[in-house]
Amino acid sequence: MTKQTNTYDRFLKDFETLINIDSASENLEGVAKVAEFLKEKLDNLGLKTEITREGKNGVPCLRACTGSKNGRYDFMFIGHMDTVFPTGEAAKRPFSIANGRAMGPGTNDMKGGLLVATYAIEKLKEEGALENLAICVTFNGDEETGSKNSRPWIEKNAANCDRVFVFEPCRPNYRHVMHRKGGGVVRITAHGISAHSGANPERGANALVELASHIPVIHKLNDLDTAITAQCTVIRSGEKHNIIPDRAELVVDVRVGTMDEIRIVDEFFKKLPETNYIPDTSITISGGVDRPPMEFSDKTMELWEVLHTEAAALGIESSWISTGGCSDGNWTAAMGIPTIDGLGPVGENSHREDEYMELDSIIPMITIIANTCRKAVA
Ligand SMILES: [Zn+2]
Repeated sequence: MTKQTNTYDRFLKDFETLINIDSASENLEGVAKVAEFLKEKLDNLGLKTEITREGKNGVPCLRACTGSKNGRYDFMFIGHMDTVFPTGEAAKRPFSIANGRAMGPGTNDMKGGLLVATYAIEKLKEEGALENLAICVTFNGDEETGSKNSRPWIEKNAANCDRVFVFEPCRPNYRHVMHRKGGGVVRITAHGISAHSGANPERGANALVELASHIPVIHKLNDLDTAITAQCTVIRSGEKHNIIPDRAELVVDVRVGTMDEIRIVDEFFKKLPETNYIPDTSITISGGVDRPPMEFSDKTMELWEVLHTEAAALGIESSWISTGGCSDGNWTAAMGIPTIDGLGPVGENSHREDEYMELDSIIPMITIIANTCRKAVA
């Protein structure tokens, strides 16, 4: 048996264990079990590990670090231990393998990535390269619900790191992620005056009509020559057909490609209440873009070149994409730290039952990560 087969077999065994632990973001006990399992593996590699409970929900978060270089780390490895699937899902469709693919809740998003990060550190240790590298691993437990509890913890750790690798899934054909849109939710509330819609409509001021009149204007945000998208997705108003509604609420999903576009969006919604369509009504705005875009710099591109070259050495032609979805890489890139995402194994269909991960990408990805770490710091 070659060493490589050995690593692969152990990876699959660990993978099966992790997938068969339910760890929905709300299932703190399940997330803690995943954290305990990975803590032991990282303990065994000689890293200094701790599991803390972060935020007001007490979300389990695992930090595992090598020795630092005067308090700083060459790399931060980011991953999340929670999944979107409810408790009971793992029993319903446990870890399985067919046609070169691993399936089960969280195979692609992103328990495979947690293991690639862990096994890349193991590889560096076996090669004697870990002594020259300072790596800080942070695995949080609430990414799928927006990292509300763990964000300060991630940012605190990132402040001491020179580069960030995020182990969300790699897209088919080895496409990593260099850019992600930022986004947030804008809530618009219209206020009016209720009245009997048949007997005395002249006494009313229809909040729903006021709110609806703003929708075509908001929708035009999509037509600007930018990456901005603004989708009106949920609307609520009225209870009875014979009462003019005095209140209406609209939810707008907003995404931006750059920091400048956040300013355009903020300005747009700040001005929106200045236009009024129905006398005696008004609108108020809350929310906004709260997740910055993940943008890349020249330094990020330099790191990408190393990653790309290491993939090419294995005969893999890698590339990168921009995506609308957010990850914890958005926070670290906004801090100005070179951040590359999509460094887990290759797979597809996250958040769906047909989610899968390609088994033949496991060993190449571990190798690419380990080699990139060595070369980038050498
Ligand atoms: Zn994910």
